[in-house]
Amino acid sequence: MFSSNTHDFFAMILDCIDHHVAVIDCQGEIQYVNQSWIAYAQQNGCLTQSNWQSVNYLNICQKAAAAGDEFGRDAIKGIKQVINGELQHLELEYPCHSIDDYRWFMMKVSKSACGQTPYFIIIHQDITRSKLAEEKALALANIDGLTNIANRQCFDQVIEDEWRRCQRLLLPLSLLMIDIDHFRLLNENYGHQTGDEFLKILAGKLAGFVKRPGDLYARFGGEEFVIVMSNTYRQDALKIAEAIRVKVQRLEFPNANAPGGIATVSQGLVTVIPQRPQNTAWLIKQTDKQLCQAKNKGRNQVVWEDFVTPDPDF
Ligand code: GH3
Ligand code: MG
Ligand code: MG
Repeated sequence: MFSSNTHDFFAMILDCIDHHVAVIDCQGEIQYVNQSWIAYAQQNGCLTQSNWQSVNYLNICQKAAAAGDEFGRDAIKGIKQVINGELQHLELEYPCHSIDDYRWFMMKVSKSACGQTPYFIIIHQDITRSKLAEEKALALANIDGLTNIANRQCFDQVIEDEWRRCQRLLLPLSLLMIDIDHFRLLNENYGHQTGDEFLKILAGKLAGFVKRPGDLYARFGGEEFVIVMSNTYRQDALKIAEAIRVKVQRLEFPNANAPGGIATVSQGLVTVIPQRPQNTAWLIKQTDKQLCQAKNKGRNQVVWEDFVTPDPDF
């Protein structure tokens, strides 16, 4: 039916699709690119030549890999595996952000043939929208619904990561656990909603004390909060804990049935240079012990234990 113009006919179809399509041979020499491929390359100043047939795609990936591009390295390895028959099909997700655009692509490579000659189809598909949705869902899963700060799940992940990082780099890791004093009495006296309000206020205040990029404050559960401070010795962590204690006291949030008549917090602090056989569960348990001591000693105070010996020269 369209035998005389078969090439034009299929080129027309391929030019209509958004995905960037290229066909290479066994050596990586580009045999064909569609319009989307050409347009994207021109818009992004990658390769502006119109004669793509003279370009070797494996060389492009090789150059990117040599310049330190992780995707270039994975791409060349994967494409070669598809060419050698070690892999049926390659799928590789990679970021491709420009100055004003957040973009993600998926590269798919598969083998095809024309007569006896094998060819390899490379398709770059824009997956930015699904990636954004995925990241949003992930962010939501890590946020506490009431206070809008990081939740327990997020804390569990961060403490593990920071434990390993500090262990590797022999850095001190401080964990602070904050618990509202006589919160049950506050709830009973003013209602659960007022209790919730106070939790939100306290969560908001914590942001002001956690300024370093690696640090995290999170709701640990109920009326307990945690702060993870990497590369922080006890002396500095203690200053933060004490500043939090004073800040809460100065809020003068009423808790009439509690001694003192206002809401206060007790805190447990532990500093350690992570090492085996200890682990994050051990660190959390030790910090909780210090918190219990703070409660037993009369609340509205910080109790700490320092496992870093000898102390740095403070
Ligand atoms: P302590 O000084 O020993 O910590 O006494 P406490 O009353 O604070 O401790 P307790 O464990 O007896 O009570 C904690 C209370 O926190 C009980 C629970 O109803 C309340 N709570 C936990 N989660 C929430 C929440 O999301 N909202 C409100 N309003 N209350 C909560
Ligand atoms: Mg508690
Ligand atoms: Mg409490």
